[in-house]
Amino acid sequence: MLELLPAPPADPLWDLTAEYAADPRPERLNLVLGVYRDHTGITPVMAAVKEAEMLLAERSGSKEYRGLSGNAAFNRAMLATVLDDGSLTARATAVQTVAGTGALRLLADLVRQTRPGTTVWISDPAYVNHRPIIEGAGLTVRPYRWLDPAGRPDGAGMLDDLRRAGPGDVVLLQGCCHNPTGADPSFETWEELARLAEANGWVPFVDLAYHGLGDGLDADLRPTRMLAERLPEVLIAVSCSKNFGLYSDRTGCAIVLGPSARALRHVETALQNAARTLYSMPPDHGAAVVATVLEDERLRTVWRTELDVMRHRITSNRTDLVAHVGALGHEEQAQALARQKGMFSMLPLTPEAMLRMRRRSGIYGTTAGRINIAGVPAHRIPFLAQGIAEALRAPSASEVC
Ligand code: PLP
Repeated sequence: MLELLPAPPADPLWDLTAEYAADPRPERLNLVLGVYRDHTGITPVMAAVKEAEMLLAERSGSKEYRGLSGNAAFNRAMLATVLDDGSLTARATAVQTVAGTGALRLLADLVRQTRPGTTVWISDPAYVNHRPIIEGAGLTVRPYRWLDPAGRPDGAGMLDDLRRAGPGDVVLLQGCCHNPTGADPSFETWEELARLAEANGWVPFVDLAYHGLGDGLDADLRPTRMLAERLPEVLIAVSCSKNFGLYSDRTGCAIVLGPSARALRHVETALQNAARTLYSMPPDHGAAVVATVLEDERLRTVWRTELDVMRHRITSNRTDLVAHVGALGHEEQAQALARQKGMFSMLPLTPEAMLRMRRRSGIYGTTAGRINIAGVPAHRIPFLAQGIAEALRAPSASEVC
């Protein structure tokens, strides 16, 4: 049987990570994956998470099955955190999922169960896994513009493309800190999007993976909450991987808002049925940790303070990088970086220049130009800026050959 298996394409990000691991240069820098690192280069367990884990270990817990919707306290806490409004939570359902990826897939499955063959619009460029997840659920993908030719968020182009989205279509939007570009639309563009969805009858599907790491938790959630207030139906995929640092605990949540509580009557069972055939139940540990943090006022404050510290470190890395790239004579490129937000920066480098940066300096980002700005130890920013400047230098004859 196995001889019939065609060679599948390898995952480009994990491939690059393996190439980095095999690179013998001690000064090399891995900025491929979206993982926060502190100034020492470590991805720490957050203090609020550690404390919650201690509390959970002390309680005489049980590892019994939790049920198809996962951890109920976690689902309640996620609704309250994301929607921050009693009247919204009254017309919303939440189901715990295997991280943000699981939420994206379950919600896509819900769309398919509702209307097979639905068109889902995704940004161009998109998070690398959006298209495979949506197509994997049997839906059709269409792209909408995200950036203008100068690399700025293209609100007008995006709205133009989405004018073609019709009733019953679904539009996948990253709620903040767009991956891979770091470019977010203005709040006015978000309001235009809400008007368009209302007028044309399409459903927003918001992917929240980086809330708290852009402008602050409430500011980052503002567009999502506005859509939830103004529109009858909204789908929201939430990841706790980045903002709780729970990457390997696979913690997330699928939220569905309907026009009324009654309209949601089949939603939870439909999501549970989708989960049942994919992985049955999500793992409890991360969800129990998040519920413990969010239900305790003191721990919640500790978490939010830590999240702010992470956000400030990312912002300060970006400011430093902009200053260094500018000081090396690349003012235009520096300004492009200055406009970006969140964990990722899209370097104004061609795929060839990204390859040169890898070869010349041992700095690894994706071929499309994305780097994880949250992964650079502060003292290595000058090295990164130098690497970018080197990559901008034309290739030598030997490099061309
Ligand atoms: N959505 C976006 C935009 C992401 O960048 C990611 C992870 O990088 C995810 C969803 C999924 O995250 P996870 O499944 O690790 O929670």
